[in-house]
Amino acid sequence: MKYRYFSENEIKGLSPKLAYMLDGAREIAGIPFIINSGYRNNDHNKKVGGVDNSSHTKGLAVDIKAITSEARAKIVSALLLAGIKRIGIYAKHIHADIDNEKPTPSLWLG
Ligand SMILES: [Zn+2]
Repeated sequence: MKYRYFSENEIKGLSPKLAYMLDGAREIAGIPFIINSGYRNNDHNKKVGGVDNSSHTKGLAVDIKAITSEARAKIVSALLLAGIKRIGIYAKHIHADIDNEKPTPSLWLG
C-alpha cells in the first residue's frame, strides 16, 4: 500500500490502519509530519525510556515532531479530524496512537 506523504521507511512496522490515518491527518494539517519515532521493538523501547506495554511496540503509535505552538495546534486538530483519538502533547513532539486496548479518547501532557 502506498501513502501520499510517507515513505515505506518512515512507516515501517506501523499498522496499515495507523499509516492510512496519518496520511489523512497530514493532508488536513498542511504541514510536514516528521516522525521522530514510530514502531519500536522491545529493546529499542527500553533504551528510549518507553513505558512497558508501549503502543509503539505494537506498531500503533508515532511521535510527530512539533516544537512550536502553531505546529502543535495544527497537528493535534488534524489528528482528531482524521479519527486519531489518543494524543499526548510533549515539549518536542506529539504522540499519536490508535491502541484500542487503552482508554479512548485520551489527551495527555508529557
Ligand atoms: Zn510516543
